Amino acid sequence: MDELVQAIQKNFPQMVEWRRYLHEHPELSFQEAETAGFIAARLGQWGIDVKTGIGGHGVVGFLQGGRPGPTVALRADIDALPIQDEKSCEYASKNPGVMHACGHDAHTSTLLGVARTLSQIREQIPGNVVFLFQPAEEVSPGGALPMIRDGALDGVDAVYGVHLWTPFPVGTAATRPGPFMAAADEFVIDIKGKGGHGGLPHQTIDSIVIASHLVVNLQTIVSRTADPTEACVVSVGSFHGGTSFNVIAETTRLIGTVRTFNPDLREAVKERMERIVASTCSMFGASYELDYKYGYPPLINHDAEARRFFKVGTQLLGKDAISESPLIMAGEDFSYYLQHKPGCFMFVGAGNAGKQAEYPHHHPRFDIDEEAMSHAAKLLIGMALDYMNESDMC
Ligand code: MN
Repeated sequence: MDELVQAIQKNFPQMVEWRRYLHEHPELSFQEAETAGFIAARLGQWGIDVKTGIGGHGVVGFLQGGRPGPTVALRADIDALPIQDEKSCEYASKNPGVMHACGHDAHTSTLLGVARTLSQIREQIPGNVVFLFQPAEEVSPGGALPMIRDGALDGVDAVYGVHLWTPFPVGTAATRPGPFMAAADEFVIDIKGKGGHGGLPHQTIDSIVIASHLVVNLQTIVSRTADPTEACVVSVGSFHGGTSFNVIAETTRLIGTVRTFNPDLREAVKERMERIVASTCSMFGASYELDYKYGYPPLINHDAEARRFFKVGTQLLGKDAISESPLIMAGEDFSYYLQHKPGCFMFVGAGNAGKQAEYPHHHPRFDIDEEAMSHAAKLLIGMALDYMNESDMC
């Protein structure tokens, strides 16, 4: 293990360099052509078999170990967000309105560092490693499903992934067995009333008043429909209607998200929402359209693989660094991989106020403590080798 840690550390300066380059050149979901080229060029230099164009701009690398054994997949997401970078550091985004504000640049660089390290010790590896560089994590339907459809998990025995996380301090890592990250659904409600003169409301059906009732009524889903012992969120994130001070708005649009872990509750929330929207609109004589879009399913870690994290994480980062994470209400399309293969998704602390890495994910000043990449690399390699060695002994 010590030898391995040294090998990772040797590649760390390059990981920082790659990460800063990618941070300067972010690409939006479904548009990651140059990022994919950057990845493929490097994997190829290290004698890794590379396939591009998997599930869109996905890149899949295959490294055959020196000894026969199982095949473990390691995944990084590669896309950025439509956010204007407000940092002033020299590696701030050069692409206006686009920013790596969730750390996917660091996930990509970490997995490149892992690939390079493993390629350097290829002869000692008792199995094979598949590197999944996945596009479009940020926008449903995401990049994981199309990659799986294109065969990215064929022949894979287990799958692991990491997410750097600034709310957790650098040097720590966490996950939890079973449900870990939420199902993330989206809804769009269009309310159609009857427009008219602001001074003559009795001749109109005011879509803004109806939408206001609706926002309040939707709050009762969590407070009065969901089991209070189950995590559930219903948030209206956008409220748009009207054009002028003296015009009653004929239409108003509400957009929001639903987060759950339990599939039955997920259905119950959707059904309740339909009834509340229908009843509230009918109360005022308005019509409506409700578009409920299922997003990523809940991310459910496999118990044995979560246990492996607690073992391997303790060995590599120390007992005090490892903890059981609380539920995370964000969604992740890594959930799809776990529907097909055993595996575990791990959070790696990247927060450090001393390095301006103190902003939440998706914030215009988001940054990470880059040391987190070395911890993430250790975990990914440690999990893969531990899985292989365990199969070796059977
Ligand atoms: Mn993310």
